[in-house]
Amino acid sequence: MPDMAHPQAEPPFGRWDGHCHTHFSRRDGVDDTDAFAARLHALGFVRVSFTEHPTFPSGRIDENLRREVYLDEEGLERYVRRMEGVREAYRGRLEVRVGFEVDFVPGDPDWPLVYLERYAGRADDATLSLHFLPGEDGLVPLDVDPDVLEAGLVHPLGGIDAVRRLYWETLLEAVERANAWGLPYPRRLSHLDVVGKFRDRFPLADPEADRQLALRVLDRVRELGWALDVNAKGVDVPLRREAYPDADLLAAATARGIPLVYGSDAHHSAEVGRHRDRLAAAVAAAGTGRAP
Ligand SMILES: [Zn+2]
Ligand SMILES: [Zn+2]
Repeated sequence: MPDMAHPQAEPPFGRWDGHCHTHFSRRDGVDDTDAFAARLHALGFVRVSFTEHPTFPSGRIDENLRREVYLDEEGLERYVRRMEGVREAYRGRLEVRVGFEVDFVPGDPDWPLVYLERYAGRADDATLSLHFLPGEDGLVPLDVDPDVLEAGLVHPLGGIDAVRRLYWETLLEAVERANAWGLPYPRRLSHLDVVGKFRDRFPLADPEADRQLALRVLDRVRELGWALDVNAKGVDVPLRREAYPDADLLAAATARGIPLVYGSDAHHSAEVGRHRDRLAAAVAAAGTGRAP
């Protein structure tokens, strides 16, 4: 059942890591899954959703990026099998959900159905992410490099306002599409406003217009009963220094009663639990209408 059905049974903020990667998306490939699980348990987490990057269609993004970040079919099977083992090993101590960070692929919106249906009986959870927008020469990553964002989208579209407009519109499309799949997941959006990863370099001309577009997404998230990832990764980005979403959108989400789930977005076991207290304080402040 979706999380909404039994809100009283959900772990409080900071006891569920809803967005956690593994060595399967790391270049070194050294299996430290047990260290992830042990650290989660030691830090008092009661649930973790491993949300690894599954497969991504070829020919749409830079091939090196695709190979580095996304699994191939065989790797995906190995990932699911490994996490099934962890789920079993920690049963009763830590609820392990086996899942995916589902990428919305502009131009190929039903791509995720291939793996979501294949692993329907074995996986437990997924988040929905938008990492790419269409540029003049294919899909452009939003969160890899500010120079890439500038050359691929900001410059061609005539400014960051237009890029962000496209982000919010595409995100709405992604949510609608995923909802239409009629599956138990994804029902949680990852790192809302990841297009703002390098925000200090790309100031908006019209922040209020941008906010209105973001609120449309939050309204739809509320209507559908989805949740939001409050993602720690943004805190470590020098051009951002704040979680995704920011305090303003967090307050708007809280005012709408949208469930918020902590996400470390850890790729190494040492990153498990990162900035949890800071994010919990931001969530608490959002609930009182105060800026954190
Ligand atoms: Zn992501
Ligand atoms: Zn992630």
